[in-house]
Parts: sequence; C-alpha cells; structure tokens
Amino acid sequence: MSRQTPALDRWIEPLHSAAWPFLSKSRTEELRRLEAALCVALDTAGQEGPSERLLAVRRAMAPLSPSPLGERSVLAATLALAGFVCGWYDLDLRDTVGPGHGRMILRHGSPALRESWARRLTAGALVGIAATERHGGSRLTEITARLMPDAQGWRLTGEKCWVSRLNEAAAFVVFAKDPNGRIQAAVVPADAPGVTRYPETPSGLAGWAWGTLQLHDVHLSGGDVLVMPDGDGERIFREHFAAFRPQVAAIALGAAAGVHTRVLSALQARTGIGLLPRLRDTALVTLGRTQADIQTALLGAVTAARLTAQGSPHADVWARATKVHGVETAYRAVQDLAPLIGAGGFRADSPVGKAKADLGGLLYADGIHDALLRSVGRTLMNAD
Ligand SMILES: Cc1cc2nc3c(=O)[nH]c(=O)nc-3n(C[C@H](O)[C@H](O)[C@H](O)COP(=O)(O)OP(=O)(O)OC[C@H]3O[C@@H](n4cnc5c(N)ncnc54)[C@H](O)[C@@H]3O)c2cc1C
Repeated sequence: MSRQTPALDRWIEPLHSAAWPFLSKSRTEELRRLEAALCVALDTAGQEGPSERLLAVRRAMAPLSPSPLGERSVLAATLALAGFVCGWYDLDLRDTVGPGHGRMILRHGSPALRESWARRLTAGALVGIAATERHGGSRLTEITARLMPDAQGWRLTGEKCWVSRLNEAAAFVVFAKDPNGRIQAAVVPADAPGVTRYPETPSGLAGWAWGTLQLHDVHLSGGDVLVMPDGDGERIFREHFAAFRPQVAAIALGAAAGVHTRVLSALQARTGIGLLPRLRDTALVTLGRTQADIQTALLGAVTAARLTAQGSPHADVWARATKVHGVETAYRAVQDLAPLIGAGGFRADSPVGKAKADLGGLLYADGIHDALLRSVGRTLMNAD
C-alpha cells in the first residue's frame, strides 16, 4: 500500500472495477494526485489557527480540484470520492475541493457574477450559506429575513443563526422573502456594510467559525439576487442540496473510514508487539460490520451524486435519504469503533475523538434527519 494515498488505496481502489467503471484512469490518477497533495498541504499549512490553516489548505488544493471538463455525472462522482478522501483525514476539510455553496452562484448568478466567482472559487475563496433562523432551520418557508426593493436594487434585513464558515466566507448566499412573499437567494459580500457576525463555540466541526449573521439594511444590486427560470429561492435551495447532500454523506463516510483505518492499525500494532495476545471476536465483528456499512453507504452516496448530475427525477429523494443514511452510518461506525482503542481515543488531540464530535454536528447541518426522512416519506406517498 502506498504511504501517500491510504484513503484511496484502502477504500476506493478495491471497489473501482465493480462499482465505478465509469471513472477513467485519468480520473483515478486525479484522485491519487489530490490525496498526495493534500498530505503535503496539511504538512506545510501553518498552525496560526484552525481557520487560517483550513483556508491555506483550500488555496493550495484549489488548482487540484477535479476538472470540470467531461461528463457531469463522472465529475459529480469524482467530487464525492474526493470529499471522501478529504474526510478520511479530517471532517474539517469538507470545503477543501469543489465550489461548495459557491455552486449556487455558478449555476444561478448573472453572467458577470458567475465569471467573477468562478475565478475567486478557483483561487480558494469560500462561500457560506445563511438559511436557518431562530424559529427553526427545518422550516425554510417560514423565514422572516426581508429583501425590499429600492432605487439602486435591494435592501436586506434579517438574522440567520448557526451559520458555518462565519468568519472565513468571502460571501454568503442568504435566503430571504421579497415583498410578494417569494423566497429569494441573494449573494451578500461578507464585508458589506450592515453585515455583523457573532460567533458561538461549537462542540464539534470547530475548524470554521460558526454562529449568527446579522444583516441590517444591507444594500445589494439587482445582479446580486440569484435567478432560476420558473423557480424561486426555494427551488435554488432544493436544487443545490440535491447535489450538496450526497457530497456531505461521502465526506462523513470518509471520516468514519479514517477512524476505521486508524483503529485497525492500532489493534494490529497491539497484537503485533504482543500487548494483546489475540483480538476478541466482538472486536473482529465490529471491524467487519463497520467496514461493510461504510463501503456500502459510500456506494449509495456516489450513486446519489450521479443521479443529481444526470437530472434524474429520483435525485432529490436519493439526496435527502442518502444524507441521513451516510451520516448516520458514519456516526454509528465511529461510536462502535472508538471504544476498541480505549481511553486514548478520548484525548482531546485524538483524531478518533474529534471525528466523533464532528460527525455529531453533521446530524444537524445540511438538514436535520427526522425532517429530511419525513419529507422523503411524503414525496413517496405523493408519487404515482
Ligand atoms: C455544525 C452546524 C453547522 C450548520 N451550518 C449552517 C449553515 O452554514 N447555514 C445555515 O443556514 N444553517 C446551518 N446550520 C443549521 C442547520 O441547518 C439546522 O440546525 C437544521 O436545519 C435544523 O434546524 P434547527 O436546529 O433550527 O432545528 P429545528 O428546525 O427547530 O428542529 C428541531 C427539531 O424540531 C423538530 N420539529 C420541527 N417542527 C416541528 C413541529 N411542528 N413539531 C414537532 N417537532 C418539530 C425538527 O424535526 C427537529 O427534530 C448548521 C447547524 C450545525 C449544527
């Protein structure tokens, strides 16, 4: 096994010929280069603070993001697998490759906005999303942030909570209602007058700042509001998350796979030097079950990513269900694996303990699970 690309060699390569024959040799090589470069970026990024470090890694990795050329579903699968590789190292690396929430601007912005953001995203800039409000993030249609027209364009006022990438994002896609009660998605520069940030301390996923975004009479031009033909901001939100949620599942599963590999290595080392005479059957069973759970859930996440890219009518249901299944599978796997290495995994600097806390955050972020499953059930009930 190559020392530079353990995530790829141990978890992706074995499935290659059976599960993703559509990935050409050059796409696999792209992933291999990406993982090797990620190791270098992690070694060379400074230690000033978590945000600076993560932004430095993102900037270093931006030129190595999977090429947008070629078939869209292959790109989506490659991005999901690249996310898995990043998650294997650290869930805080979830924004290392790809446009992230900037995808909404690239798809629904005016030509000028698209062009300038394509450049900025490729250089490593980050875009946040601000949808959740105090009444509850699971009820987007009840948002109270307001977008009012004025002579120059729009004025935006409202408050968003639990916003990730709070201090690091160069802009936020903010969801607000216009005077007709339609939900709109507006691109708000982080340094615009009237934007104030109030960070909170999270118990996991602490790499990016997280907290409240206050918007007071923020001036926006007409071109800052995203447009979807025959749709509104809610459609933009849904369309975006149909692509984003499989990506989240793949990254979460990468984090669980990283824990699996580390726990396995620790147990091999203990038995190798005779610290453990033999492994108990219960430990072997946990290793086997979690391996199967992670690998099959990854197949689902990549399939969901491809369905969205292909414009499948099943994409939305798959994306919502896959986010729940992928994150819960990863969360359970880490809960089960962590005890196998004992109290060492509970140290604050242990990647195993960190993955456990980080995955806890993903149970809420990007869609809380009971609300997602309920909406899947409702869609299924209403289908022919
Ligand atoms: C780490 C992290 C990062 C995040 N990043 C972002 C971000 O970048 N941008 C952003 O906008 N948001 C972000 N969020 C917020 C996240 O999207 C929300 O937490 C999520 O949408 C759920 O919303 P809520 O926490 O307000 O819970 P609520 O919507 O209040 O839901 C709480 C519970 O109440 C239930 N519930 C809802 N309605 C009812 C009802 N009528 N009866 C009974 N039960 C009900 C829900 O199903 C759920 O179980 C983040 C959250 C976390 C933890």
